[in-house]
Amino acid sequence: MGFYTLSGKPRWACAMCGMYSSRKFSVKRHINNLHDGIGNIVSFIDYIACRRNGTYFPNPIPNYLVKQTQTVAPNNRPLDVMKDELFRTALRKSFGYT
Ligand SMILES: [Zn+2]
Repeated sequence: MGFYTLSGKPRWACAMCGMYSSRKFSVKRHINNLHDGIGNIVSFIDYIACRRNGTYFPNPIPNYLVKQTQTVAPNNRPLDVMKDELFRTALRKSFGYT
């Protein structure tokens, strides 16, 4: 898991830009400071799973996400939803949440 390099478990993430922290108030403060208080705090698991689906980042989509979004997003079939659940479960386990 290359993106997991910070100390402490990332539990909360900023849906606007992907900043994450183990402490919810850090993300809240970040949103207040950088996004004028406009932004959603999402659980890190949901953030990762939804970023994979291209759910967050409505507009504009950062360049580094476009390729990923285009290859992953077009079809949202039931099988994909099932895969997502498996993906989330695997993530939770790998982070030791369960
Ligand atoms: Zn942010």
